[in-house]
Amino acid sequence: MTEIQIAQSVTPKHIREIAEKLAIPEEKLEYYGNDKAKIPLDLIDEEKVKSNNLILVTAITPTPPGEGKTTTSIGLVDALNILNKKAAVVIREPSLGPVFGIKGGAAGGGWSQVIPMVDINLHFTGDFHAIEKANNLLSALIENNIQSKSRSLGIDHRTVTWKRCMDMNDRGLRNIVAALGGKAGGVPRETGFNITAASEIMAILCLATDLEDLKERCGNIYVGDTWEGKPVFAKDLNAEGAMAVLLKDAIKPNLVQTLEGSPAIIHGGPFANIAQGTNSIVATKMGMALSDYTITEAGFGSDLGAEKFMNIKCRAAGISPKTIVLVATIRALKYHGGKSLKEITQEDVEALRNGLPNLDGHIAGLKSFGIPIVVSINAFKSDTEAEMKVVEEHCKKSGIPVALSYGWEKGGKGCLDLAEKVIASANSCATQFNTTYNLDDSIHAKMEKICQTVYGGKKVVLSDMAKSQLRRFETMGFGNLPVCMAKTEKSFSDDQKRIGRPMHFDIQIREFEIATGAGFIVPIAGNMLRMPGLPATPAAERISIDKNGVVEGLF
Ligand code: ADP
Ligand code: MG
Repeated sequence: MTEIQIAQSVTPKHIREIAEKLAIPEEKLEYYGNDKAKIPLDLIDEEKVKSNNLILVTAITPTPPGEGKTTTSIGLVDALNILNKKAAVVIREPSLGPVFGIKGGAAGGGWSQVIPMVDINLHFTGDFHAIEKANNLLSALIENNIQSKSRSLGIDHRTVTWKRCMDMNDRGLRNIVAALGGKAGGVPRETGFNITAASEIMAILCLATDLEDLKERCGNIYVGDTWEGKPVFAKDLNAEGAMAVLLKDAIKPNLVQTLEGSPAIIHGGPFANIAQGTNSIVATKMGMALSDYTITEAGFGSDLGAEKFMNIKCRAAGISPKTIVLVATIRALKYHGGKSLKEITQEDVEALRNGLPNLDGHIAGLKSFGIPIVVSINAFKSDTEAEMKVVEEHCKKSGIPVALSYGWEKGGKGCLDLAEKVIASANSCATQFNTTYNLDDSIHAKMEKICQTVYGGKKVVLSDMAKSQLRRFETMGFGNLPVCMAKTEKSFSDDQKRIGRPMHFDIQIREFEIATGAGFIVPIAGNMLRMPGLPATPAAERISIDKNGVVEGLF
């Protein structure tokens, strides 16, 4: 059976039944059909948040299809429910770009999926659309002010960094010239589109603690400079109220279920290479308030996902995980040991051993946070017993608990060993995580601490442009913000070809972006695309619908 056939073979329970498992009063549910509901922020009880066991799922350096963080997160929540624990999984919402591009859907895999899978992968409850509208409203207001004579803020149109956004991989919109068509069409300028997952509004939605905070953050967005060189913010355009109105429902987390009927909260979807890569703070806190074990995911590998999860999200939210699950696959380890993507389904113990340093690199980085780690080997049909043994023994030697997980093949009952190890590990955790840097460190020091502690690199080197941008941001008073590294997910370094565990590398920062609404500075290492393109053979070509409305090819 394909992923979508498995997903469609299970009829979702009424969402009311899922809400009951979390003791959500029925009158609090805002139904979107029978199998989806939004839940209001007043259900977040901060006292209950404090006593929850938050579990972060992250991974080794991934191969292009992903190593199974979402699949493992879902298998784990189902296993915890089998063990009669009150557990919820809280994950990101898929972006349409990858759905129609290379990756297909992103709602787990095999027998560890969230449903209704098709809806979750498409328009879901409209949050992405609302984010797009709030983003583009700001663009329209900027354009209008540049055009205006009587109410002009004197914006130098060449300095406007704020871009429009759309949730599609459309390379043709990456760089555009807008405002053509003569006097009434505005002042022509170069600009472009970001994919919605890369919009600062997405980052804001995922970091905001309530509607007031959301509105304030929207007002704090930097859009460009005046002709005199003074920064202009969204609040100077009186934009934040209307933007927040467009986001009034999008800020509420969405409740759905796993194939086995465990509660799943899906909310927000910032990319992990260019943004913070983890679902919203309100969704995570909602899960924590309503359950005893909350499983959440941060992508891609731990160098990006876990680092930002801790230093940006957990710091802002005042929460701390009790255990980190590090997902590894035998296939990816063989890839890091030198095998090509085509060869990794064949047994090769030597390549596997050669790839283990990648796993060690992630363990070393994660240890710096001081939170216990459990390694979960996401088992594929092509893995052999000899290979499994090698990884198991390797972890045991370094004193890290390791579980073989079969969530994809068997659902919750395939992850019981992992669940038991996670429970024991969370019970043993009595501390809060250590941050990698302090907010009052200089931006350069923050980046260098991440580079050395988490990536295993040496120095951070700035281009001349990056240096002058940094000086400006520090004079503007933004030097105390956390940093959100934009780096390839394919390597610990900034060079995607350096797989395995590269050593003695520097991170080159080409330029900075500033996200004063979200509240972070984005150092950009290498060429990071904020608007991806489709691959040569896009998934879209396989996707269709029959006369009964049954969708196929989504996975
Ligand atoms: P991540 O969240 O790390 O990106 P996913 O959980 O989304 O990874 O899984 C990526 C892809 O790999 C999905 O298509 C999923 O169905 C598939 N997959 C995950 N685990 C397995 C497995 N054990 N066997 C076969 N396919 C798997
Ligand atoms: Mg995922």
